[in-house]
Amino acid sequence: MGDATATAKVPAARKWILLNPGPVVTTDRVKAAMSGPDLCHREVEFSDLLARIRAKLLKALACEATHTVAVLTGSGTAAVEAAVSSSVSAGRKIGVLVNGVYGERICEMAKAHGIETVELRQPWGEPIDLARAEAIVADAGVEVVAMVHHETTTGLLNPVRAVGSMCARHGKKFLVDAISSMAGEDLDLERDHVDFVVGTANKCFHGLPGLSFAWIRKSEMARISAAPKRSLYFHLPTYITQQDKGDVPFTPAVQVAYALEAALDELLTEGVTNRIARYKARATEVRRACDELGLGQMLAPEHRSNTITTIYLPEGVTYAALHDHLKAAGFIIYAGQGALSKTIFRIANMGELTSGDMARLVGELTKALAAIRGGKGK
Ligand SMILES: *Cc1c(COP(=O)(O)O)cnc(C)c1O
Repeated sequence: MGDATATAKVPAARKWILLNPGPVVTTDRVKAAMSGPDLCHREVEFSDLLARIRAKLLKALACEATHTVAVLTGSGTAAVEAAVSSSVSAGRKIGVLVNGVYGERICEMAKAHGIETVELRQPWGEPIDLARAEAIVADAGVEVVAMVHHETTTGLLNPVRAVGSMCARHGKKFLVDAISSMAGEDLDLERDHVDFVVGTANKCFHGLPGLSFAWIRKSEMARISAAPKRSLYFHLPTYITQQDKGDVPFTPAVQVAYALEAALDELLTEGVTNRIARYKARATEVRRACDELGLGQMLAPEHRSNTITTIYLPEGVTYAALHDHLKAAGFIIYAGQGALSKTIFRIANMGELTSGDMARLVGELTKALAAIRGGKGK
């Protein structure tokens, strides 16, 4: 089969193969689920849908016995802000371990809600210094310790297990932003002593954007219900109280919930372990191609996640030129943030990607680099 035939057969829904860290390429079944019946969220059909979704979210993390979950309408940031603003008692502090954009965002959220922070600030991409982290965990004023599991900024995997056991030793609550790692990396809420964890529909869960989730240890509910109500929309005890009764405080993204249930069914059928293995295989394909093409990667192999490869832009190749060439070929790569925008680009391999997609990507990447270096770029 020639190239032209292969291109002609790309279905319209796969016009762009998304190699950004969410939204991701979803299955036809997930996309079709969105066009379910118009539904009032105060009807029993929505309550039932919400109850099924919450049960599946707990099942996906195997934490039914210990945790409950709130479903929020809003992007991933909404769930992070809900967890940060709801989890700290009056007069106590949040300790934040920062080595990327999303860790910095947690600090900003805490400050916006008047919560005092104690911060470990490390350069983007630098592994968390556990000795310095422990000083923060041990700080008597700190009640909750927050960290990003997978720093999407650089693709760096942070040591959730080590920090979780530190929190347990010092009697601190542990809050994890696992938005880009949940169902993509090994995470066990019991083993890792995680009290609060957040995720979103449109990354490794393969749903559509608009819903995000906060899992809360059940034994924390009484304490956080007594904490100051710092926000109306983002107050987690409000969500849990109402959702336990089959109700929602505000209008939810009903159609996105239809798609989410289909996506969760696919995830539970595949199994989280198998999905992680699938991602690992896709990432390995990307990384092997980098080696073959002589493209350097920012992170040492032991710090790399299963879903993001952070690659140095080669000499004479701008992100804009590379992006535009690949977009014309149907692939959407992702820029670096802040100062990294001039030096790196990112390839995420979340979503419904096949080995064939990756092989095609490598072919197009090879062509794009040759074209740009040959003076046909910008
Ligand atoms: C994507 C992401 C978020 C949230 O992003 P939204 O654009 O609000 O969905 C938060 N934290 C991490 C680690 C992320 O990767």
